[in-house]
Amino acid sequence: LTSRLRPFTSTIFAEITELARRTGAVNLGQGFPDTDGPESMLRVAQEAIAGGVNQYPPGAGEPELRAAISEHRAARYGTEYDPEDQVLVTVGATEALTATMMALVEPGDEVVLVEPYYDSYPVAVAMAGGVRKTVGLRQGPDHRFELDLDQLRSVVGPQTRALILNSPHNPTGTVLTDDELAAIAEVCRDNDVVAVTDEVYEHLLFDGRAHHPLAGLPGMAERTVSISSVGKSFSATGWKIGWVCGPSELVSAVRAAKQFMTFVGGAPFQPAVAHALRHELAWVDQLRADLQRKRDRLSDGLAEAGFDVLDSEGTYFICADVRPLGFTDGADFCHSLPERVGVAAIPVQVFCDNPGDFQHLVRFAFCKKDEVLDEGIRRLHKLR
Ligand code: PMP
Ligand code: GLN
Repeated sequence: LTSRLRPFTSTIFAEITELARRTGAVNLGQGFPDTDGPESMLRVAQEAIAGGVNQYPPGAGEPELRAAISEHRAARYGTEYDPEDQVLVTVGATEALTATMMALVEPGDEVVLVEPYYDSYPVAVAMAGGVRKTVGLRQGPDHRFELDLDQLRSVVGPQTRALILNSPHNPTGTVLTDDELAAIAEVCRDNDVVAVTDEVYEHLLFDGRAHHPLAGLPGMAERTVSISSVGKSFSATGWKIGWVCGPSELVSAVRAAKQFMTFVGGAPFQPAVAHALRHELAWVDQLRADLQRKRDRLSDGLAEAGFDVLDSEGTYFICADVRPLGFTDGADFCHSLPERVGVAAIPVQVFCDNPGDFQHLVRFAFCKKDEVLDEGIRRLHKLR
């Protein structure tokens, strides 16, 4: 294994999911739903397979899906992309992110990540030979996580090629405010930085919050690669259909990298995702309402079990502090939790270069059936 990949041999999700399987633990670790997406979407995929949509799709993705992605972003956010050359279909958001780094980052270029960061970001930067720099989320006086804007301004400079931004944010559930987005946009414009936005949770915001893509801010459309995918919005994390929207120069660069990574992918799923984006947004509204209720169910249960629970404004996830239960380290806690009480969770510190305050936080997923959440909570009560 190359030195650039040696630090990344296993993923925390594989590790904890395997531990959960071995111990029969309730898996509130890896974020995937335990129910299916909209029936009509599943049916369109089945019909596509039966109808012979089984060979290589076009390199940029099925035209019908590119059109649906473009229409969705225009209708929802007012951002316009030409489906011909400003939309690219990828194998999940994961490939979109890696291909974007491969396309845009020269060896030695710096890429700024917000920590805690999603686990594939540092690896994508490393594969491209880039150098990662991090900016922290910090808990403010009201316990909400805030982006450290002074740190951002001090880290970004002429050596910075790109900034990867994820809102709603995995693992904290933070939704960046319009003021934070405006400040980030200013830093990107002033330093001629490309913004790469991971918007896979774009539909999963709670308590009436609305998602605002960074690309919609003044001067940002021409320097933002916006990434999303089907997995979270339509409960189909195994389909791995993602997409990139951006100015044609950036999208064609990403396409150049993507074509030699996977070439294309998921032919029969592409018409199904197009159908979902066009006809199943009401289903997503219901999913969002269900998830908000599940967030509250898990949050209340964790608090009763003795955790100090933080707010979650979006995503599948909620974070909790293990110190009130007498633990100090989230990783030790998560590695012993399946044996101890039969529940799996993810330590937040593994997503950080500077764990600091994240050392004692653990992430629980609430995208599970109510009975699964309740059983997990029942078991966690045994920690006291
Ligand atoms: N980004 C974030 C923040 C995620 O939580 C995930 C996990 N699903 C991904 C990207 C990967 O998305 P996909 O499955 O579409 O590759
Ligand atoms: N995105 C999911 C999570 O954060 C997991 C994806 C994965 O297993 N790589 O839990």
